[in-house]
Amino acid sequence: MIDLLPPLREVIRAHDLRARKSFGQNFLLDLNLTARIARAAGDLRGADVLEIGPGPGGLTRGLLAEGARRVLAIEKDARCLAPLAEIAAAYPGRLQVMEGDALEVDPRPHLRPPIKVVANLPYNVGTELLIRWMTPPDWPPFWESLTLMFQREVAERIVARPGSKAYGRLALMVQWRAEARIVLTLPPEAFTPPPKVSSAVVHVRRLDQPRYPADAATLERVVAAGFNQRRKMLRAALRGLHPDIESLLLQAGIAPTARAEEVGLESWCGLARVLEHARRAG
Ligand code: SAM
Repeated sequence: MIDLLPPLREVIRAHDLRARKSFGQNFLLDLNLTARIARAAGDLRGADVLEIGPGPGGLTRGLLAEGARRVLAIEKDARCLAPLAEIAAAYPGRLQVMEGDALEVDPRPHLRPPIKVVANLPYNVGTELLIRWMTPPDWPPFWESLTLMFQREVAERIVARPGSKAYGRLALMVQWRAEARIVLTLPPEAFTPPPKVSSAVVHVRRLDQPRYPADAATLERVVAAGFNQRRKMLRAALRGLHPDIESLLLQAGIAPTARAEEVGLESWCGLARVLEHARRAG
């Protein structure tokens, strides 16, 4: 038992909170498990936590029980507000709930550093949020770490290395400015209702500086173009980016005949710099 609140199954019954597919709802009802996920975020004492999609509040309770200074939780489904208010009452002054779409609400004015993001994300918005958190124009970002649940296949794409099938835009944009590892994998039965696939928790710790210099927007554009046509040679896949892409590739030390998945992070950053330079000169 992590707190004196009722078991989650009871909460769900009392509030008639049947999971809805349209909200991407697969709930975690085992509070030992949610406490484990909270612990995977590191020491929460003295930190503000941003949680996206608290639902009935299993992970929220884990975060509070593990000592988070404050939790700001953004939830789109209004049915969850009443059970979340009961948690807020049990932890006075430590839980703020905002009703809204995490893709539209700006949580930053409500948070004080150090800030950790912890979430069992709705799958339909998970990668979009991750990319946004990884690509602010300035670095370091508002958060120190992200501890996020994804479909296992997405988690593997985040930690993938060059040469593997999973390697692509997600791996590069995350590993450029952070360290990422899978800390927990969960079978479908851990959730109610069970999704079709396994899930995994990824822990992303920001670096103080990107590993190699590059402009975030240019890097994202070049990587997206390269992997959009991952079977093509780069001189063809990147043709739309510059009329003389072949010589820019050579300048960056990349063989024009290479394919996106063979190129490492350092070379992608080099290519982004060469392109940026060419754009300014042109
Ligand atoms: N955190 C809870 C848990 O672990 O049991 C619920 C996780 S469930 C996978 C995803 C949650 O995100 C749901 O509560 C859903 O209503 C909410 N959600 C879906 N889309 C959202 C959005 N765009 N912004 C905020 N919350 C959203």
